[in-house]
Amino acid sequence: MNNSELAAEDLRYLWHPCTQMKDHEWLPLVPIRRGQGVWLEDFDGHRYLDAISSWWVNLFGHAHPYINDRISTQLKELEHVILAGFTHRPAVELARRLVQITPPGLDKVFFADNGSSAVEVALKMSFHYWRNAGKPEKREFVTLSNSYHGETLGALAVGDVQLYKETYEPLLLKAITVPSPDCYGREPGVSCEAHSREAFTATRAVLERHADSVCAIIVEPLVQCAGSMRMYDPVYLTLLRECCDELGIHLIADEIAVGFGRTGSLFACEQAAISPDFMCLSKGLTGGYLPLSAVLTSDRVYEAFYDDYTNLTAFLHSHSYTGNPLGCAAALATLDLLDDGSVLEKNRATAAYMSAAVADLEAHRHVGEIRQRGMILAIEMVADRSGLIAYPWQERRGLKVYQHGLKNGVLLRPLGNVVYFMPPYVIEQEHIDLMAQTARDGIHAATCD
Ligand SMILES: *Cc1c(COP(=O)(O)O)cnc(C)c1O
Repeated sequence: MNNSELAAEDLRYLWHPCTQMKDHEWLPLVPIRRGQGVWLEDFDGHRYLDAISSWWVNLFGHAHPYINDRISTQLKELEHVILAGFTHRPAVELARRLVQITPPGLDKVFFADNGSSAVEVALKMSFHYWRNAGKPEKREFVTLSNSYHGETLGALAVGDVQLYKETYEPLLLKAITVPSPDCYGREPGVSCEAHSREAFTATRAVLERHADSVCAIIVEPLVQCAGSMRMYDPVYLTLLRECCDELGIHLIADEIAVGFGRTGSLFACEQAAISPDFMCLSKGLTGGYLPLSAVLTSDRVYEAFYDDYTNLTAFLHSHSYTGNPLGCAAALATLDLLDDGSVLEKNRATAAYMSAAVADLEAHRHVGEIRQRGMILAIEMVADRSGLIAYPWQERRGLKVYQHGLKNGVLLRPLGNVVYFMPPYVIEQEHIDLMAQTARDGIHAATCD
């Protein structure tokens, strides 16, 4: 079997995620045969450096011997069991460890099986909490512009990436959108902190106005990943926490993409020294191995549901694969690897090396900004630097960088005009050199026509 045979067979049967399938008339699918560390290898023997951690899920590389081992050990004992009425060791141990490592005040863990489901759980729990607490009039959600929380209808409704949302608008809950505190394109001379602080003024006004009807505000702490890796200052989260406490509004932190060390701290919320009322985790949770997600919340929220059955206050939500033991085993192995305190420290050095490797692009006439938060680095391509004029989306400049990357053995998958690195933590300097050189040449090829 070679690449083109498998690709042809694929196109007879598969419908791929986030894809206009007609593109594959001229854009070849890449069938992957195996993965090892930062590398993916196709059926023709070409290798690709996984610079985006396979959609941000992989933390310690592909085919990690320790995670492999923990999953196969678990596989010999128990592959799956219903989690209602029954329990198992990996779920119990994982819940305990998540409570221990997340910010204080997150005491209970509800498992689901993907990121969007975790967001649905958090939204329903928040609404239901207020209902159980005698405030059924609280039924609205506040979200930041340019945010992304997944693609099931509830999660889509509280997101704001028009490309994914616009078509389905008639089906969606109406969320209240406040301006993102993102620092791109702020006034010259204004610090990111001052900008994010200023953006909070508008958020506060909206929350004050709607406090009686709002259940929660949902945010992606520090980095709006699907929204082109836009970044903001932790001060926004600190102010938001204070304001939510004051007004009686829940704070939902969607750390699905930024959790587990991505932004430099184990959880992004730590950089603002806050605890949310709900924290959603997925993606890196299993090291990029298996679909699993978790929503953490406080004992206080938990207790509002705890009552006699006939009072009908229970949270009657479930997914078939909730708390799957293999997924939990992969997550426990991932936490073991993260537990070794040297990971965050090594990431600091890796992040500094990534930054230096593309520093020269700051001067490129089609680069509007290079921004970074820990192990996420983004390069914004612009038609015109003065005024940060974006390329029209129809030109698909990012796709040119993607194609250039594949030709040169690097999987880059720009979001619109934004080329980014979000590699597995095991990436070495020589890989970073290749990744940076390929991005540099790709950006040049895509912008200098
Ligand atoms: C990926 C992502 C989701 C959705 O997770 P899925 O597992 O793809 O459903 C939600 N929120 C954020 C911030 C994400 O990055």
